[in-house]
Amino acid sequence: MPAHKERALNPLTETTVDVVRVAVAKPLHQLFDYAVPPGMAPPVAGARVVVPFGRQRLTAICIEQDPEDAHARLKPLVSVLDASPAVPEELRSLAVWLSDYYQHPLGEVLATIMPAEARRGREMKIVRPEQWAATGATCDLARAPRQRALLEAIGAAGGSLSASALLDAGFSRALIRSVAGKGLITRTETAAEFAVGIDEEPPGLNEEQADVLSDLLDRTDGFAPSLLEGITGSGKTEIYLQLIDQVRKAGRQVLVLVPEIALTPQTVGRFERRFGAGGGVASLHSNLGDQERLQTWLKCFSGEVSVLIGTRSAVFAPFANLGLIVVDEEHDGSFKQQDGLRYSARDVAVKRAQTLNIPLLLGSATPSLESLKNAAAGRYAHLRLRQRAGGARPPSFHLLDIRGQTLEDGLSQDLIRKVGQHLKRGGQALVFLNRRGYAPTYLCPRCSWQAACGRCEMRMTLHLSPRALICHHCGQQRPLPTACPDCGHAELVAVGAGTQRTEAGLAKRFPEFPLYRIDRDTTRSQRRLEAQFEAIQAGDPAILVGTQMLAKGHHFPKVTIVAVVNADGGFLSADYRAPERTAQLITQVAGRAGRAEHPGEVWIQTYQPDSVLLRSLIDEGYEGFARRELAIRRSSGLPPFRPMALVRAESRDADNARAFLLSVRDRLENPLEVLGPAPAPIARVANRLRFQLMVMADTRRELHRGIRPIRDLAAPNTVRWSLDIDPYDTF
Ligand code: ADP
Ligand code: ZN
Ligand code: ZN
Repeated sequence: MPAHKERALNPLTETTVDVVRVAVAKPLHQLFDYAVPPGMAPPVAGARVVVPFGRQRLTAICIEQDPEDAHARLKPLVSVLDASPAVPEELRSLAVWLSDYYQHPLGEVLATIMPAEARRGREMKIVRPEQWAATGATCDLARAPRQRALLEAIGAAGGSLSASALLDAGFSRALIRSVAGKGLITRTETAAEFAVGIDEEPPGLNEEQADVLSDLLDRTDGFAPSLLEGITGSGKTEIYLQLIDQVRKAGRQVLVLVPEIALTPQTVGRFERRFGAGGGVASLHSNLGDQERLQTWLKCFSGEVSVLIGTRSAVFAPFANLGLIVVDEEHDGSFKQQDGLRYSARDVAVKRAQTLNIPLLLGSATPSLESLKNAAAGRYAHLRLRQRAGGARPPSFHLLDIRGQTLEDGLSQDLIRKVGQHLKRGGQALVFLNRRGYAPTYLCPRCSWQAACGRCEMRMTLHLSPRALICHHCGQQRPLPTACPDCGHAELVAVGAGTQRTEAGLAKRFPEFPLYRIDRDTTRSQRRLEAQFEAIQAGDPAILVGTQMLAKGHHFPKVTIVAVVNADGGFLSADYRAPERTAQLITQVAGRAGRAEHPGEVWIQTYQPDSVLLRSLIDEGYEGFARRELAIRRSSGLPPFRPMALVRAESRDADNARAFLLSVRDRLENPLEVLGPAPAPIARVANRLRFQLMVMADTRRELHRGIRPIRDLAAPNTVRWSLDIDPYDTF
């Protein structure tokens, strides 16, 4: 560093800062140094700054003042945006951990953590309702009756009133300004304060629930992770509410993470009813506007939010005094981000609770094998609820052997009869199949032509409303051919069933009952979805047909029969996690049935009635299934017993993608187990060829040390690649 360089003087502390080290949101594992120009107040760590970067100007985050090994010739900062940290200390160290764990550049991690508005450099300030208060000054208003009336209105309201209340009362903006101009009233800002306590009397807990709650309350000091495994309807949410009540009373905040699909107005409403409208309950989800997101984020940090309910990214909200994290349905796949920073919000929640030294509660009817393994190893307390709260009985499970049977729109005659019986008895029927559209295959019975997506290596799904062939992988649509493009045969056939076909078949069979189809094609609008759910809640006999959207969040108390149209695909898939996901899905769908006084029946159609995994699910429930599946994972050396990373690469040219993965493989250090490069299970999507490299190790330390050398690898322009630590699916 030059000896007599001009030094920037911090006007507040009178100390000097020459250089700051910042993180920019670029795919580079590197931080950058900038000079603080003379006269500029230097940024504190965590503040946003604007820096010149190549020919661009970027918003960056200050990581460090005066790093020891700073370079001598540096470009100056353009400006400093914050006087205090925009990203608080706790989140900065979390970001460093994330960057290291997921091998993702720190600047991009910080950009992922921050709300979009903050990233764009907008002012990070809580906008509060405009409020006017009497100053106590007096003056003669005898000739200004409107001004006097305004002052009296404020006096009558206890000395201050919101601008909107004044406008509503007929006072004009101009009038407010002129009274303020006389110094009689002034604009004030008061932070909203939430009321601790409850608004709604909670139900008395049953014995099981009381035991679980008292266990949890015994361990509210320090990092105490618990896994609450309780069947759907066993009263887990009630336990969250009562535990949260205690944490709030101790003056601390709570973060509740829920799956994407479960964050509905009903969920938030349940918390608001319990803690009251002024109870500081807020939510963060993808439908919020950017400014709303920023405001909620800031209010978590200021302490004005007492309970934050949010989806995946809410795990990055800053808090003044966080006292508990709850992750509901912790097994859910939506907690894993599938692009960019491929984090698991559940795992980040564990890390954060550990760092903050606070309790963590993971709840699920079907816990992930990761969490079950941690519980078995004694790392998590394993708490259980085996009965349904309020006395409802769990459903009974049955397999329906459909070998050699002709299915009608996906359904066997036995199943159709059963559905009919339940409807006539006044129940509702839930028909679950994990495939939308009309039919997954459209073919020519004369030659062997099949409708296939030209860009992916996949069959196209036949849709009837609107009529089209649609590729579920790249979204491409084509009109239906009127004849076979290969041989001209005029009668093409739809094979197999999706939700549209099953819906049509059931509508023909049971025209007297209302039918609701719930899948991604029918539920593009949240409002329409809510309206459908309300009609179903009304409880008249009806049929529900749908995909996994039916498996989460909502309860259907009047459903007495659940039909699982096809369970086999999941147990036969090439993805080693597919059986776990399928068992969770079936159990979750089944859990929607017979919630109240009506016991339910679950019927599962299968071509594999002797499948060991399916049998164990039926005979021993999810717990038995999980025990078997864990044993398989252990003996095959798969997660959660050994950590895994997946390197994916795709290119228009197979050789490019494969060659890149070969160079990745060369860089990996021993002792890693490396499989591949192999074509991904769906080897071509949107004309790009996809390959992957599966990497495993015996310990996490070995995995991380071994893959570190690849993070700075530059791929040729023709190849897109990504590194996924703890992948949720292997394609
Ligand atoms: P879960 O979260 O496990 O699905 P919930 O907490 O939603 O279970 O409880 C299921 C239903 O039972 C809800 O309607 C809830 O209000 C009710 N409930 C929960 N605990 C009790 C209890 N101790 N007594 C009576 N009803 C209860
Ligand atoms: Zn043909
Ligand atoms: Zn396609």
